[in-house]
Amino acid sequence: MEFKVPGMIMVGGTLVRVELTACIAERLLNGESVYQPVPLIRIDPGLSPALIRRVFIHEALHHITNRYHVELDESQVANLSEGITQVIMQLSLDTEGHISEKENE
Ligand SMILES: [Zn+2]
Repeated sequence: MEFKVPGMIMVGGTLVRVELTACIAERLLNGESVYQPVPLIRIDPGLSPALIRRVFIHEALHHITNRYHVELDESQVANLSEGITQVIMQLSLDTEGHISEKENE
């Protein structure tokens, strides 16, 4: 079961663009969140699909905590996104992101 990382997500009524782009500062990070001027998630395209999904959830969580003014430090975001990733990967989602009636799709 896999899900496709979307090109954009809505977080609290704000569109966040998602880009697979190599132009990440100094290549120290797998991904990054940008809030201004345009909300953006950048993910290193050289990662495996599983890691791209993981980084996507991590960066989306940064946008969620930013949008809703939730104060979490980096390790808290990392732990929470790890748990959320585990839960999401247990959902039956097809590649369109729709909930499927069948398991193992
Ligand atoms: Zn982070």
